[in-house]
Amino acid sequence: EEEFKVTPWEVEGVVDYDRLILEFGTKPLTEDLIEKTRELTKSYLPIFLRRKFFFSHRDYDLVLKDYEEGRGFFLYTGRGPSGPMHIGHIIPFYMTAWFQEKFDVNLYIQVTDDEKFIIHPEFEFEDTKRWALQNIFDIAAVGFNPDKTFIFQNSEYTKIYEIAIPISKKITFSTARAVFGFNESSKIGIIFYPAIQAAPTFFERRRCLIPAAIDQDPYWRIQRDIAESLGYFKTAAIHGKFFPPLTGISGKMSASMPETAVYLTDDPETVRSKIWKYALTGGQATAQEQRIKGGNPEVCVVFKWLEIFFEPDDQKLRRRYEDCRSGAILCGECKDYLISKVQAFLREHSERRKAVEPIVEKMKYTGKL
Ligand code: SF4
Repeated sequence: EEEFKVTPWEVEGVVDYDRLILEFGTKPLTEDLIEKTRELTKSYLPIFLRRKFFFSHRDYDLVLKDYEEGRGFFLYTGRGPSGPMHIGHIIPFYMTAWFQEKFDVNLYIQVTDDEKFIIHPEFEFEDTKRWALQNIFDIAAVGFNPDKTFIFQNSEYTKIYEIAIPISKKITFSTARAVFGFNESSKIGIIFYPAIQAAPTFFERRRCLIPAAIDQDPYWRIQRDIAESLGYFKTAAIHGKFFPPLTGISGKMSASMPETAVYLTDDPETVRSKIWKYALTGGQATAQEQRIKGGNPEVCVVFKWLEIFFEPDDQKLRRRYEDCRSGAILCGECKDYLISKVQAFLREHSERRKAVEPIVEKMKYTGKL
């Protein structure tokens, strides 16, 4: 068995997602839950569900039941503003937007400028506050219901402290240390921080659903241990896989290697050169060899990016898979196709971002609790 490691701070090796479900103690997102989602939303499902990019959950079945029986639920997700956002960061927000639109529910988006300032030694507080605002514009550009979306930066929305206090009284240091691996040199701000990250799950007395990559799961385990003793629901979650870096299908995109990611602010030429230069494919050494033997889309990042987000047409994707296997297409063709898709997405993103700037203020959460 290959080794891999998944924590809120790092992802290493080739992740075996089925094994991760067992290790984390979550449940697989089964066909009947996906079918139930389709029934309740009366909608064509997004590619994230059709193609199992979201693959695991906690209590998603109960979320659907709450919805069906009229109790409703709410959504919560977040972003750590440590720099510019790349494509891997923004994708889970599209899943979240779909849930909000189809179920017509409230959504809280926590931007953790406090946490990112505390854990990065090189940051001034002003840095993460500034990135927070920039990231909020990018997130808002995804397109949420402005009347039901509440975005806040922890440093501004100080009322969150009111909710974090009773939570912090329920979590011992030894529990937090066991879950997060704190040690002697951990900053005390980070030791308290899990109470802040859990707080939005207590914003409403309904079940909370968190769509996020599976590396965030440890935070929700702590929440689930204590929520009921405070008179709230254990939070539910639906877990995404990692969006792979250009350089290989294992791991996730990393801010420390900017050439392996495509940023939302990359210009068309940068996108082209990054994908041409760094994207790992499953192609053969020569064109001639590939015509004879075919390529392997299973290990190809170009194919993965199309599969996860950039090729919404199921038939076209299937045809590409077969054409790759048979040697009918070559990698250059796929790269060009992906480049044009990514460029179009970024162009539309930047237009939406500009359009949404004036209404972001409206989505800022100042709410009474
Ligand atoms: Fe990937 Fe396309 Fe090359 Fe196949 S032909 S390995 S799908 S880039």
